[in-house]
Amino acid sequence: MLARILYIEDNLLNMRLVRKILVSMGYAMLEAMDGTSGLQLAAQEMPDLILVDINLPDIDGLEVVKRLKEDHRLMNIPAVALTSNAMHGDRERCLAAGFDSYLAKPVARVELKNTIEHFLKPNHAHVAV
Ligand code: MN
Repeated sequence: MLARILYIEDNLLNMRLVRKILVSMGYAMLEAMDGTSGLQLAAQEMPDLILVDINLPDIDGLEVVKRLKEDHRLMNIPAVALTSNAMHGDRERCLAAGFDSYLAKPVARVELKNTIEHFLKPNHAHVAV
């Protein structure tokens, strides 16, 4: 069975870039463009991993992860922050908010792949060689 990854992102170019990478790696992707609908989709679909942009139009990614980690059904799903705020202390801020990992944008394929495989068993995906 394909592992399913939810990406909460309001920027269409970033969404497209990550979609391209995930599909090429054999993952199924779920997409939400704001925090509220992302949380709803997470609760409905129970994805295997969640990628979260920090700057979202409604609640920010830090609030999204806080709510994920407060929900006993969702708290064990790995949550990875994707942010362009590569400022000092940003990584610590994301981890303190509850994220399991952090990636700076623009995200490189190999970094995204390594991070996902750290949390998901590699045989979870149909890897297209
Ligand atoms: Mn954004």
